[in-house]
Parts: sequence; structure tokens; C-alpha cells
Amino acid sequence: MPWRGTRDPYRVWVSEIMLQQTTVAAVVPYYGRFVAAFPTVAALAAARPDTVMKKWEGLGYYSRARNLHKAAKIVVGRHGGELPATVDELAALPGIGLSTAGAIASIAFGRDAPVLDGNVKRVVARLLGIRGDLARPASLRELWDASRTLILPGKGRETALALMDLGNLVCTPRSPRCPDCPLGRHCRARRDGNAEEIPLKVRRKPIPHHDIVVAVIEDAKGRVLIGRRPDAGLLGGLWAFPGGKREEGETLEAALAREIESDLGIGIAVGGKIGTVRHAYSHFRVTLHAYRCRAFRGTFRASRDAKWIAPSRLADYALPRTNRKIADLLSDAHP
Ligand code: SF4
Repeated sequence: MPWRGTRDPYRVWVSEIMLQQTTVAAVVPYYGRFVAAFPTVAALAAARPDTVMKKWEGLGYYSRARNLHKAAKIVVGRHGGELPATVDELAALPGIGLSTAGAIASIAFGRDAPVLDGNVKRVVARLLGIRGDLARPASLRELWDASRTLILPGKGRETALALMDLGNLVCTPRSPRCPDCPLGRHCRARRDGNAEEIPLKVRRKPIPHHDIVVAVIEDAKGRVLIGRRPDAGLLGGLWAFPGGKREEGETLEAALAREIESDLGIGIAVGGKIGTVRHAYSHFRVTLHAYRCRAFRGTFRASRDAKWIAPSRLADYALPRTNRKIADLLSDAHP
């Protein structure tokens, strides 16, 4: 973990945000590229939003990048470019919840602040034998209290890192290595032999699936149309080919023509299929169907958030993973 040796609050912050809902292995290359491109809070604050999104492309949960950027501007504007050291001030910044604030305060500033990320939650729940749904407010209160109690006074940093590492390497979701665990003697779940049943797997509703149709509209010069998604919402701030969701009973081609007509005000002729891309988000799955298209009625004027670009320039824009695959299919067809 390239961030492990550092106490630079900015780098600790970036690593903690990247590690939210993302594995260490996935974060490592992104972290290196990100801090090389934006080595300080001031450098991040001064960057263009598109440049920040491009460095985050592929890591997912893009609101993290937008919030990091917003927060960097606040740190420069209100805190003189220095990340604040207290949990309360940190948690007031966009994208920093209580656990991330605790991690930054303890790891970077050595404060005795509790952390409760996914790994620590599992360790503490097993230690105490908390068996219900850990998202319940009563369980969360118990977990926060325990996380606070576990801090060795004056050793907030060491405690936070130890608990995180324990969750990562020893007290893993499946097959925890209880015989190697330094907390084994104190662990309720080990004593009761039910560590793997904690945390309780809560049965979620089945994940819905949507068919999404995507238009790669080419103009007479061979350029393609992309638009910037609004900041608020899924994949906000990224660039994407236009399109939308197929309604029940519609053919893919009819859905595409309808979406483009209503979004862009132009009529299109839907041509050959470029390819199909499947992707799973946290709350739904999608199958994208991408088609080559040409406008035959109306003109679409480019703007700051919608551009005609040569396909070779798609590499310069931050695209969602699905759209990047479509762009790759395009360049495979016309290298
Ligand atoms: Fe986790 Fe086992 Fe250690 Fe308990 S003894 S904290 S279940 S690894």
C-alpha cells in the first residue's frame, strides 16, 4: 500500500476516499497516478473538473472524485490549504463521513479518533458477537462505542491501522484466520464458533436489469457526438454517448430514435450495431446496445457540455467504463 508510509494529510485523505467501497488492489495504480498529477491540495483545487475525472476514470463511484475536488477548493479557500485536524471539521467537508474523518484524524494527525469502515465494522462485530443487521442504528451505536473503547490512549494512529489491517488480512469476510489473530482470546465470535455468520448477510431485493441503447452519431466529417453528464446523479461529470433506457415492448432501434429525438431534438437513422456491453452497478445491472447512427433531420449544435469530436480524441475524455468499451470497439473497427 503506497500510502501506508505517509502522514501527509492530503495523501491519507486521497487514499481513504479511494478505498471506500473499493479493494486495495484496485486502488493502488489509481492512487499513484492521482497524487502524481495532483501532488498537493492546492494542485487538486486548481485542476479542471475534466482533468480530475479523467484521472478517476474506471475507479467508479464518481461522486467521490467530484467531492474530493470540491473539498480541495474549500480547504484552500477556508483552511489556508491545510487539511483540518479534527473529526468535526473534516466531516464537514464534502465526501468525508465520520469514519473517513476518524481515519484521517488518527492516521495523519495522530488523534485518538475512532474509525468504523467496513473492515473495522466486521472485526468489532465479531469481537463483541453482534449478530443482527449491522446497519441498524442500535448496532451502529454499539459498534462506534466499541471502536472508541478499543483505542489505546495516545495511540490513535496505531490502533486505527491495526484494526484496518486486521480486517484486511486476518479477520477476512470468509475463512477468518482466528488461530493467528492477536485478539483471539477476547473474541466472542471465535469462542462461539460463528465468526463467518457475522456480519449477518441481509437479503436484499433482486437487482433490476435495464437495456440501455446508445447512439454513436457520426457527422459528415466522421466526428462523433458526446455529452457531459450532469454533476448530480449517476456517473455525473463524465462524458458519454447519448442514449437512454428501452421501455417495455419497444425495439432497441425505436427506443434509440425516441431517446435521441427527445433529448437532442434530431431525427436519426439507426445503422449497424457496434456491440453489446454488460455492466453491474451497485443497485442495478445494464446491458448497453450501441449503434452507429446518422442524423437525417434537424441539426444539433455543440456546446460546452456536448461536442463533436474525432473518435481518436475519445481517449482524452473521462468516459464511464461501459462507454470506454464502446470507444474501444470503435477504434478496433477503425484503428
Ligand atoms: Fe476475527 Fe477470528 Fe480474530 Fe475474532 S478471533 S477478531 S473472528 S480473526
